Amino acid sequence: MAVDESAANESCVGPSSEGAGKASSCEGCPNQQACAAGAGRAVDPDLEVIAQRLAGVKRKLLVLSGKGGVGKSTMTAQLGFALAARGLRVGLLDVDICGPSLPQMLGLRGQSVHRAASGWSPVYVNHPDDAAAADVELGVMSVGFMTPSDDAALIWRGPRKNGLIRQFLTDVDWGELDYLLVDTPPGTSDEHISLVQLLGATLGPHDGAIVVSTPQEVALLDVRKELSFCAKTQLRVLGVVENMSGLAVPLRSLTLRDADGADATGPALALLAERCPELLELSAHVDVFPAARGGAEAMAASFGVPFLGRVPIEPALTRACEAGRRSLPGSPDVVRPIADRILASTEMEREAEEAAASMMDGSL
Ligand code: ADP
Repeated sequence: MAVDESAANESCVGPSSEGAGKASSCEGCPNQQACAAGAGRAVDPDLEVIAQRLAGVKRKLLVLSGKGGVGKSTMTAQLGFALAARGLRVGLLDVDICGPSLPQMLGLRGQSVHRAASGWSPVYVNHPDDAAAADVELGVMSVGFMTPSDDAALIWRGPRKNGLIRQFLTDVDWGELDYLLVDTPPGTSDEHISLVQLLGATLGPHDGAIVVSTPQEVALLDVRKELSFCAKTQLRVLGVVENMSGLAVPLRSLTLRDADGADATGPALALLAERCPELLELSAHVDVFPAARGGAEAMAASFGVPFLGRVPIEPALTRACEAGRRSLPGSPDVVRPIADRILASTEMEREAEEAAASMMDGSL
């Protein structure tokens, strides 16, 4: 009797888990009998292949969010850039199969994947005209490199999506990496269960999930489900990031209008520069989304997981993502504090410092 994963019920604990077939959530599932008989615990031969493939990867991070549009892909791309800029070798795996955003955000649209004898080769970020991205070692694998045209819709059922995830994990030749970041689809779907089952045995004590939310209840509601999923599947949560946490606008970049609506920026800034120049260094902070019940920080505390910090809405970041760039000249690096905390929580700070020092030596 075989387990049909595509027919599993919504809150499946996983056919290979200890509770398979016996958990209360197995009631009514067509696989219950097969799972209880241990059919799902038969060793999956791909697990060994995946362990060998990822043997050269020091840290694995799954970027999750319960909801779409909260900035999960942005965070994956920006963390990739930030870690690679520290001299670390980084791979980004985009398993958001129906909505892959990483090729666009990394300036790699239109690229395609090459198959070599050793497996699929990732596509590498290389922006010779972008000093901030030059010389970074950032490899990307995405279904976006495999579709015939940008507008082609991928309408795949669960088992086919799971098959591609399996192939990404068994066939991509990442080589030696300091970090592999996996950008997942929103929610807690089939793809998440597959990922956790296939990667689970390779996850070490410093690997785990980065969970992204925005501050308002409509996002937190779904992100709480994501945190429950992590608890259920014993996926360690390295931390929660609150993205789009207010809008910070430097006073110098505001357009100031007089009572009639006319542009008064020039004279107003000149007056400030003359009378009170220190005010010109201030930023205006606007809470765009109301932080419901303490926002993501309070949610992280209630689940007993770390809070990694807040990333404001930064218009220059939206434009950088659209342009497939790490950042625009003169714009603040709003994700860097989060990357620093991830380095600390995964105990990779020392290696990052050594990599940065050897990058400096190389450029002298
Ligand atoms: P998700 O992967 O969760 O669906 P995306 O990363 O695609 O969300 O982000 C949705 C949009 O919001 C993108 O256009 C992205 O550039 C923008 N965005 C995300 N975070 C920020 C931010 N902190 N500041 C400005 N724009 C952001």
